[in-house]
Amino acid sequence: MHVRENIKTLLPYVPGKPIEELERELGLKEIIKLASNENPLGASPKGLEAAKKALTGIHLYPDGSGYHLTGAIAERHGVARPQVVLGNGSNEVIEIAARTFLAPGDEAIYSRHAFIVYPLICKAIGATGIEVPPLPDLGHDLEGIAAAVTSKTRFIFLANPNNPTGTMFPQSAWKKFLGRVPADIPILVDEAYAEYVTDPDYPDPWKDLAAGRNLIITRTFSKIFGLAGLRIGYAVSTPEISDLMNRVRPPFNANTVAQAAALAALSDEDFVRRSREVNVRGLRYLRAHLEKLGLKVTPSWGNFILAGLGRPAGSVYEALLRKGVIARPVGVYDLPNHLRITVGTQEEIETLVKALSAVLGTGA
Ligand code: PMP
Repeated sequence: MHVRENIKTLLPYVPGKPIEELERELGLKEIIKLASNENPLGASPKGLEAAKKALTGIHLYPDGSGYHLTGAIAERHGVARPQVVLGNGSNEVIEIAARTFLAPGDEAIYSRHAFIVYPLICKAIGATGIEVPPLPDLGHDLEGIAAAVTSKTRFIFLANPNNPTGTMFPQSAWKKFLGRVPADIPILVDEAYAEYVTDPDYPDPWKDLAAGRNLIITRTFSKIFGLAGLRIGYAVSTPEISDLMNRVRPPFNANTVAQAAALAALSDEDFVRRSREVNVRGLRYLRAHLEKLGLKVTPSWGNFILAGLGRPAGSVYEALLRKGVIARPVGVYDLPNHLRITVGTQEEIETLVKALSAVLGTGA
């Protein structure tokens, strides 16, 4: 059997450890998972209700066009329905976008420490991923990314805020960047954590998309809407790009239950507001307490925070596991001395801080 070299050497995406697995391994109860940037308040109640109702229809194929959901998303963002592309999580629309534009040998650019799916998908396609060093705060260096453009560049990935660093690039850097990058290169702006951002400097690529720029903006229902297990996300792009992406999109990729839940969750403003408030308070608490423990904290605009331990994170991660707390080691992101911690409920993050304090105190 002939297996392509780029597939043979592809490393699989490693998800956060599931709670059940840790329960089985260590016989622990009351485990806290702060490893996958999930919503600690659970699912949007409106979304959950709609999901239950939609179960009666699962003997039928989903609406392949996602009529109601794409309509609601289009209305929310002030775009036309055909500009919306649904995905099995935003992960899938990111992959669809990349596969729409990249062929083996093409170059795609992203930042070092950017969301790991960008290098993974480039490798799977056989495209050359060009990794640009980050700014000193670990954020995307948009000037560096613009300078890395060559005649072979066919795609640029940006995450704002980025995972796992939590960093945000501001409107001023974004505007300069757009001025420097040739307009025919599609730029994907991954806004998985956008709803958490309260900073007035957060860029507005939606205006640039409306002005006709070749952008693909991706969003998800996995984070602030609390629907990670249903797998539903979307991209909004120009009519031309969305049409191309819809040709690449697998049939029925957004399932019935997910479409119904997402539609209801989209208008669950109360839940979104509460989730944002819990996150703002949690981020502040975590940052202050992690700094008190002597850790180097990267300011975050997401629902998680990156903590630099100043030494390899493996033993600290393991010791936390034994105390029933799952954090996320980020060695695969070239950050072997860091842990990423999701903002849980106040109770959960207090438990994490206590556990971490004990672990660091014992020199684990
Ligand atoms: N983009 C970023 C930056 C993320 O952190 C994630 C989730 N880990 C995703 C996209 C994909 O999320 P989903 O497929 O659940 O929408």
